[in-house]
Amino acid sequence: MHDRDPSSAPRRVAYVLPVYNEEENIAVFHAALVEATAARPDLDFEFVYVDDGSRDASLERLVELRAKDSRVTVVQFSRNFGHQLAVTAGLDLVAESGDADAVIVMDTDLQDPPRVSLEMIERWEEGVEVVYAQRRTRKDTPFKRATAWGFYWVLDRLASIQIPRNVGDFRLMDARVVAEISRYREHDRFLRGIVAHVGFRQEALLFDRDERFAGETGYPLKKMLSFAASGILGFSTTPLKLISRFGYAISLFSVLLACYVLFIRVFRPEESVPGWAFLGVGMFMLSGIQLVMMGVIGSYLGRVYVEAQDRPLYTLAMVARDRGADPESGS
Ligand code: UDP
Ligand code: MG
Repeated sequence: MHDRDPSSAPRRVAYVLPVYNEEENIAVFHAALVEATAARPDLDFEFVYVDDGSRDASLERLVELRAKDSRVTVVQFSRNFGHQLAVTAGLDLVAESGDADAVIVMDTDLQDPPRVSLEMIERWEEGVEVVYAQRRTRKDTPFKRATAWGFYWVLDRLASIQIPRNVGDFRLMDARVVAEISRYREHDRFLRGIVAHVGFRQEALLFDRDERFAGETGYPLKKMLSFAASGILGFSTTPLKLISRFGYAISLFSVLLACYVLFIRVFRPEESVPGWAFLGVGMFMLSGIQLVMMGVIGSYLGRVYVEAQDRPLYTLAMVARDRGADPESGS
């Protein structure tokens, strides 16, 4: 499949590095990355920086880097499209050019230590196709920790696939995994879910997440909430199904209420209030029926949604077959 002799040509590892307002971090980050990757002179590295419409001098810093280091590639977005799309653009670039055997995605604020990415490379060389960094500790505010915990708790219960906890987008992916990811074209992207959806051999690597070196987070609360929503809505139609369950519960309640009203009317006529039975039971029964009907619509909507996402139906890891071989490869 490869056109080069694997024993002679070095294997190629590309870093995909999203940048948004990181002018104070880029030089320090790149120096740390170069220092860490220098430990593997046998590999051929490329550093793909994607500037996600930064408002500061990040782009100038990147162009300076490229002038000094030809392994640096700079991609500039026309405006801020968000972290997930910046990473996607980098992955697409690498997948389209077919220029890497593995891709590492990491943040450029030094929260993801470059030396950890070298451990990932070692695991990849042992045959693991996705090595994701799992936080053993995180130096975030108690608020961020609590919201992250709550988010993963909900996601665990609702998502149709297992998405590992305390895992960001810091990971190494084999080229075949990257090629698969580029077939997922949904607009509202939750990359760590897509990677989990793709499959292959995936393993965690524990690490301690550092504090942001300089600048401030590009994920304020509003962005965090919409990101959490893409994760849950992108991988689950459970919220839609909840409507009908709620409707059934209310309908059941209205039946119980009707029995109670009937009981009062027959056995304690002196306690019954005229008109109350009709209003009370009617109200609950109608809203119950309405919710059940909305749930039915929701079930169809859920199917439309899944079809609209248009994800690949499956991913082949291997095909072993004798028949129908490529005619050109024969004698
Ligand atoms: N980032 C980006 N676009 C954005 C926000 C962030 O490309 O709209 C980049 C940012 O430069 C960093 C990474 O994504 O390399 C993670 O962002 P950040 O550190 O702000 O998130 P946090 O670590 O606080 O979750
Ligand atoms: Mg950060």
